[in-house]
Amino acid sequence: MIDADLASGKHTGVVTRFPPEPNGYLHIGHAKSICLNFGLAEQYGGRCNLRFDDTNPAKEDQEYVDSIAADVRWLGFDYGPEPLFASDYFEEMYQIAIKLIREGKAYVCDLNDEEIKEYRGSLKEAGKHSPYRDRSVEDNLDLFTRMRAGEFANGAKVLRGKIDMSASNMKMRDPLLYRIRHDEHHRTGDAWPIYPMYDYAHPLEDAIEGITHSICTLEFENNRELYDWVVDNAGLPCKPEQTEFARLGLDYTVMSKRKLLQLVEQGHVSGWDDPRMPTIAGMRRRGYRPEAIRRFCDMIGVAKNNSVVDIGKLEFAVRDDLNQIAPRVMAVLRPIRLVMSNYPAGKSEQLVAPYFPADIGKPGERELCFDRELYIEADDFAEEPEKGFRRLAPGRWIRLRYGYCVRCDEVIKDDAGKLQEIRCTYDPATLAGEGPAGEKVWGVIHWVSARHSLPAEVRIYDRLFKAERPDAGDNFLQHINEDSLHSRIARVEPSLASDSADTHFQFERQGYFVKDSVDSSSTGLVFNRVIGLRDSWNKQSTESEAATTPTAKSARSATRPKSRSKAEIRAGARERHPVLAERFARYQEQGLSEGDADLLSGSPAWGERLETLLGAGLSIDVAAKWLIHEQPREQDEPIVFASEPAEFVALVQAAEGRISTAAARKLWAQLAHEKGSAESSIRDQGLEQRSDDASILPLVSAAIAAHPDKVAAYRGGKEALLGFFVGQVVRESKGAANPEAVKALLAAELAK
Ligand code: ATP
Ligand code: MG
Repeated sequence: MIDADLASGKHTGVVTRFPPEPNGYLHIGHAKSICLNFGLAEQYGGRCNLRFDDTNPAKEDQEYVDSIAADVRWLGFDYGPEPLFASDYFEEMYQIAIKLIREGKAYVCDLNDEEIKEYRGSLKEAGKHSPYRDRSVEDNLDLFTRMRAGEFANGAKVLRGKIDMSASNMKMRDPLLYRIRHDEHHRTGDAWPIYPMYDYAHPLEDAIEGITHSICTLEFENNRELYDWVVDNAGLPCKPEQTEFARLGLDYTVMSKRKLLQLVEQGHVSGWDDPRMPTIAGMRRRGYRPEAIRRFCDMIGVAKNNSVVDIGKLEFAVRDDLNQIAPRVMAVLRPIRLVMSNYPAGKSEQLVAPYFPADIGKPGERELCFDRELYIEADDFAEEPEKGFRRLAPGRWIRLRYGYCVRCDEVIKDDAGKLQEIRCTYDPATLAGEGPAGEKVWGVIHWVSARHSLPAEVRIYDRLFKAERPDAGDNFLQHINEDSLHSRIARVEPSLASDSADTHFQFERQGYFVKDSVDSSSTGLVFNRVIGLRDSWNKQSTESEAATTPTAKSARSATRPKSRSKAEIRAGARERHPVLAERFARYQEQGLSEGDADLLSGSPAWGERLETLLGAGLSIDVAAKWLIHEQPREQDEPIVFASEPAEFVALVQAAEGRISTAAARKLWAQLAHEKGSAESSIRDQGLEQRSDDASILPLVSAAIAAHPDKVAAYRGGKEALLGFFVGQVVRESKGAANPEAVKALLAAELAK
């Protein structure tokens, strides 16, 4: 439409506006409108106004004005030095009303609300003329001037447009233009005892500001005829045009300001910025970044029919955004003490750990203090492990992430039988990556030093509503999830205290976290969980908080999850479905590790995809690698393509060996949500990786030359630094260098 308007010369530029009423905080639905209006202006090199539609004094407030302006800026949009206010045009609107009266197009009516309604008729029946419709222009001018002077009581009179009482569009049956309201306005005080109605004010605001395209939500479709009438009769040079689009609805949430206000006022949440609220302020405090919200708005597109969007899409955008930028650190949410009996009591080591995995290609590292006493997660230990439990248990070895391998020798309990401490032996030869000689290592778990870690309150949020459509019935409050906030004291790496307040972290294996902007301080750290690593909503019954939270009742329940682990669920599926069991055996015969075979044969969806890829001629290790590592997951299940399976086969074939894991995941997510060809996306977005020595060597040499200290440390035995160098090179290449090739070349160069 805009292209056509520009091509025909109807408009020479684009001016849009976002017109909130300052009677509440902005929510994610408004974000969609903001992205659309500001986005179009940006796209066409035009302008978008932030204009407050403050024509209804009763519910409006400066607090809302301030929060809305801040939210728009935070989302990343520029509305110029100051927002605009409809109330600044009150005088101009009043003069236009006088003009309409003079032209016989408006009259003062004394009917009360009820009578006006009665006279209006119905869809089937024409309305009746008001007995005041034929007042003379002089009488109308006199009465309207006196309304403006404050002579009449609220409701005594209104100004109406004189249009057509038998119009098929009810909005055209002599609509109200002004009403009397002796109310204090948050900006104009008591200067005005009359206020313009929305249908009169809104088109005028647009015309006064020179708006070319006035975009609003679908419920205003019926108002468009009146909008045009006002614009046509106002006598202003600009003729804006209204276009409607579908409002955004999200499942598991409510979006009307009235309902959000109810949640705040009745204390169901701590305020408009409660991290569980669908408000922009709430999402910001929760730790969503504007990039993720904008990406989500792009993803859902603009439609003409209202629909409810899966909140998983928003969560996907948030996760995908944080994955790229959040440094990985360790925090133990349910600490249990682990003591290494053979580690010298006074000794402590500084271990270096990278902030990012190599595929993210970002630099940075921090030191971890490793000493005799650590904390690990209570549920990373089981005194009597069930089948499929792949973490610490008596007699088993596991690796402490970035550190040594340890074996559990003994558990210490208090008199009540509650687990107090796990005693272990560590193997000093296992730091560089080798396991203990001849022993199986059951897994890698995260940890923090008992002495050097810091306590921090961690708040885990769940959805605020249990029902998918809390709005559907008559009382949305009955669907509130009473269990939507869990708070506990965790132990975190000390480096977190000094990182800036808005750093987003990935707590390894736990999710994404950010300091709470209101409650966290240098003396009392408070973290919000932004979002889990993957959607666990559908896994409630198997992984609920209750099932994994230690209780004081018995050590048994503390150490042994009552519910089944994912591995057990997969094993159960194979017991029930012989096809899956057959796949499990076959995949291992064909060379997959037990773990990969387990994952890919644990549910029909995974196996179907692998079978499809094998059928298309891919080797099993390439196909498995793609499914397990490159494929983004939603709800722990593979994303489903719009038209399976040809598209994802094409994607894998086009991309295998050519692009990075990060790029592959992005591309995969992109193509799952929209149509397109993998080949052209790889070409257009410049995703292809370089792995030939000739193109990588200059970057490798530059990274080595730039960090002589790190080179020395690496050669002195700090081999973990290899990851740092890989990160440097991959980043310098803007993701184009293949990490594996970089790693090999670096190792060779550093060994010289
Ligand atoms: P609510 O229904 O939540 O009270 P509103 O429409 O009354 O919202 P306004 O302040 O009038 O709130 O809205 C400002 C702009 O945002 C309007 O142009 C409106 O069309 C748009 N908007 C409001 N809610 C949504 C939504 N859910 N999706 C898309 N746009 C929306
Ligand atoms: Mg509104």
